[in-house]
Amino acid sequence: MAHQWRGVIREYFDRLPFTESDPIVTLGEGGTPLIEAPALAKLLDVGSVHLKFEGMNPTGSFKDRGMTTAVSKAKGKGAKAVIAASTGNTSAAAAAYAVKAGMTSVVLVPAGKISWGKLSQAVAHKAQILQVRGNFDDCLRLARELSENYPVFLVNSVNPDRLQGQKTASFEVVDVLGEAPDLHAMPLGNAGNISAYHLGYKEELEIGRIKQLPKLFGIQAAGAAPFIQGSPVSKPETIATAIRIGNPASWDLAQEAKRNTDGGFGSVSDKEILWMHRFLSQECGVFVEPSSATGAAGLFKLSQKGELPKANTVVITVTGHGLKDPDWALKDERGRQIKPKRVAAQAASVAEVIGLERNK
Ligand SMILES: *Cc1c(COP(=O)(O)O)cnc(C)c1O
Repeated sequence: MAHQWRGVIREYFDRLPFTESDPIVTLGEGGTPLIEAPALAKLLDVGSVHLKFEGMNPTGSFKDRGMTTAVSKAKGKGAKAVIAASTGNTSAAAAAYAVKAGMTSVVLVPAGKISWGKLSQAVAHKAQILQVRGNFDDCLRLARELSENYPVFLVNSVNPDRLQGQKTASFEVVDVLGEAPDLHAMPLGNAGNISAYHLGYKEELEIGRIKQLPKLFGIQAAGAAPFIQGSPVSKPETIATAIRIGNPASWDLAQEAKRNTDGGFGSVSDKEILWMHRFLSQECGVFVEPSSATGAAGLFKLSQKGELPKANTVVITVTGHGLKDPDWALKDERGRQIKPKRVAAQAASVAEVIGLERNK
């Protein structure tokens, strides 16, 4: 029988805190492609760029890596319900993995600030969805309080089981490259992901699979950039809803990731994010949600300012799939709606509209 990828817990069993008797709740997450992007390497003026395309996970974002571990652990402890605060992707993942585990799920999302694609996933997987009058930070505070006082299990990235699962992405990068990249960038929101990559790479260094840590770069949206400001932002605002977070839970871990790897934080405007969103689709063939373009946009900005550290190999994690939030792809550079042209059902009229001349 052909080999099928078995999900991150089974694939990295000896690297994760699980025993043979623990239940494993998986949808086959992980094993996502590392896609070479020469157009981006040229743009950034570096040796090579690989995109770690996390949109290829079962629910379309990297959150699945942490949800398999968090929900498996919750099941092992007898949990019947999970709760998550979410900007969208955590709720999609929590809802799907809860179904697989035979549990119910409750998700708290900021009212009106979640994309339709993500909301549809949570609805499809019959989560109890509550729109909180507040932002993500309010949702997380509520979810924490509820999990402390009621029989619901918290599966946000403040749950350390989440980071354990998410660290496997760095293992996969090393599996493919055979070494660590010189530099690894990603969007930075609640800061669970950069902390998880740091954890994973540190473990790879300890067991001698890599010789040095990659410089870790976390890039924020300018309107939600507490790491640039140096303190929480009370009213975060950006079209990149997945990173619209003002008070990151993994603050200290992210600071440590930056310091320990000689990495950096950066921020980019929504305009810069959307420009890179389009570049990734049109020049690299990789369709991501706008938030996911933030890492690449940040490196581009650094390179334009001559501040990008010298790097031969660069990895950029693109965190979620473009179909999550497709509205942005349907707008042109000036924000006008794109509508496919209508044509008559005749080859000659199609050829005319697209400007083709008949073969001689
Ligand atoms: C969650 C998420 C992020 C932010 O990751 P953090 O761990 O919160 O820093 C970025 N992009 C997408 C698509 C996400 O779903």
